Amino acid sequence: MNLCEKTLEHFRHQMVREQLLGRDISDKKVLDVFKNTPRHKFIETSNNKEAYGDFPLEIGSGQTISQPYMAALMVQLIEAKKTDRVLEIGTGSGYQTAILAELAKEVFSVECIDVLAERAKGILSELGYGNIRVKVGDGTLGWQEFAPFDKIIVTASSPDVPGPLIDQLAAGGKLVIPVGPRASQRLILVEKSEKGCVTKSDKTGCVFVPLIGKYGWSEGFE
Ligand code: SAH
Repeated sequence: MNLCEKTLEHFRHQMVREQLLGRDISDKKVLDVFKNTPRHKFIETSNNKEAYGDFPLEIGSGQTISQPYMAALMVQLIEAKKTDRVLEIGTGSGYQTAILAELAKEVFSVECIDVLAERAKGILSELGYGNIRVKVGDGTLGWQEFAPFDKIIVTASSPDVPGPLIDQLAAGGKLVIPVGPRASQRLILVEKSEKGCVTKSDKTGCVFVPLIGKYGWSEGFE
C-alpha cells in the first residue's frame, strides 16, 4: 500500500512527536528538520508508511537506514549549525546526509558500497540539495582533501575511533560514533577543545552495522 504525501506527512509529524520529542530530542532545529524531510523517498518499500516506524529498515546490500530516533540523537549531539562543514561516514540511503545538509553549510559523505552511493546521490539531487558531496571509498580514512571538519558523524560501528577521523576534526569540533563489539555498541561523543585536547563521553547503548575499513573492522568480519 502506497500512501499519499499528505498522509505520509501526518505519520512523519507523529514520528517526531512520539519517537523524538517523546524521548530526549529537544533541539527545535532538529525537530523541524525531521518534520520536513521526506524519509519515505530514501526507502524502497511496498508499504511507505514503514518509513516512519520506530525501527531501522533494510536499504539493500545488507545495510540499514538507522531508526529515526538514533539519527536524531546523533545530529543533536554534534549540534550542527549553519556555518559547519560536516563529514559523514556511511552515506547509506542518504537520509541522514539530507538532514545534515539542512542544518549545516556543507556535507561531505563517504560510502564504501558504490550502488548505495549512486542511489543516494540520485535521490539527493532529485530533492535539490546543492551542498552535498558524496564519494565512494573507505571512510575510516576520512576525506583529507576537505579536512578539517567542524563535525563528524559515523553511522557504522567500529572497534575504536579511527585515528584519521580524530586528526581531521577541527579544534572545537565534535564527532559521534558507535564503538564496541559487533552485537552492541556504545554511542561515543568525541570533543576536541580549541587547544586540541580530545575527550570522549559515553552517551547510550546502540546497535549499528559494522564499519569495514583500514581503521575499522577488516573485510570478512563476522
Ligand atoms: N546514515 C545512513 C545509515 C547507513 S548504514 C542512512 O541514513 O541511511 C551504514 C553505512 O555505512 C552502510 O551503507 C555501509 O555500507 C557504510 N560503511 C561501512 N563501512 C564503511 C566505510 N569504511 N566507509 C564508508 N562507508 C562505510
